[in-house]
Amino acid sequence: MTGRATLRRDNLSRVLRHLRDHGTCSRADVVEATGLHRATVSSLMTELIAMGLVREAGTSTTGAIGRPRRDVALDGSRVGALGLEINVGYVAAHGSDLGGRVLFSARSGFDAAGAGVSGCVSELARMAGLAAAEMGTLAGVVVAVPGLVSQGVVTFAPNLGWRQAPLADLLRAELGVTVEVGNDANLAALAEYACGVAAGTPDMVYLTGEVGVGGGIIVGGRLLQGADGFSGETGHLPVDPEGARCACGHTGCWETKVGLAALDPPGATGLGLDARVDQIASAAEAGDTRTLNALAEVGRWLGLGGSILANLFNPRAIVVGGYFAKLASRLLPAAQAELERRAVAGGRCRIVASELGFEAAARGAAGTVVDRVLDDPLILSPGPRELLRDHHPVEQ
Ligand SMILES: [Zn+2]
Repeated sequence: MTGRATLRRDNLSRVLRHLRDHGTCSRADVVEATGLHRATVSSLMTELIAMGLVREAGTSTTGAIGRPRRDVALDGSRVGALGLEINVGYVAAHGSDLGGRVLFSARSGFDAAGAGVSGCVSELARMAGLAAAEMGTLAGVVVAVPGLVSQGVVTFAPNLGWRQAPLADLLRAELGVTVEVGNDANLAALAEYACGVAAGTPDMVYLTGEVGVGGGIIVGGRLLQGADGFSGETGHLPVDPEGARCACGHTGCWETKVGLAALDPPGATGLGLDARVDQIASAAEAGDTRTLNALAEVGRWLGLGGSILANLFNPRAIVVGGYFAKLASRLLPAAQAELERRAVAGGRCRIVASELGFEAAARGAAGTVVDRVLDDPLILSPGPRELLRDHHPVEQ
């Protein structure tokens, strides 16, 4: 891309983000906020309107002299952003438009570990088809998976039994749209940061509570990636060298202590994720001693691992999702007490339950598609090529 094209893309992005963040406003507002030349803003608006991303929003009068101004607003309705998630016991989808309006949301039980990569690709394609039927054209798809991801390839997902699965390519072949793949906890952390219970908290950690336990770490308002994009593998912190074998092949990983299996009563295997959580909640409600003891133990281990994260990252909040959130009243008091007992820097770190449910990762995945479009609206369409030229129509 030439320097001029890059500048054009960045300017389009600035204007779109301004409209997304500030709602309906006049061209003059955009000129003032972005510092761009008036003619440039006018040209950018013409292009964005032609792309269907901005619409005229009527006229209003401001100021003492009552000069009329022509308002514009983000028109996200033609952009369908789809987030998908494949996890051990389910597949989920969350679709939104460019403005974040929810267009589709679904989750269904699915034996992803038993289905293998190709079975999961088929199931994801089926879910995407249902979403597309409601949403119209998809601008892109991001898929959340519980594992290590590099360049669209799931390099290792212990609880799914996958190694080197080229998920982005396989799903792109099915759907015919751009597909990206990301780690489920990282994507859920982005959703929490954008619209969760601790939204906007610049230093926070998100933990998935599922069969596996992943982490997404936000430091200074940015997701911590690591050298290979693998940071946040909290579930495999070796907390007990003498402990049980983990799906990753090592022993005593944190997820062997706090993953859902640590709470399952004997014989619970074969039940779906939701049924397992419901069964544990009912047993606790009925005062079942084994369940209450197991919850207390998981709560303590949650706090112990939380204290490691508090010492490492000094987060203001550790947001716990998935089943941790469903059983929060049983788990969090013990976890908070343990964290404060062990962490040197733990006193001001609260462990809080996510309110986004098991859909958090899919929501974060959809948000990532929205970000891609806001970063570079030109990915949506080749568009009328002449609009890409830097011309300045006379403002009317
Ligand atoms: Zn492990």
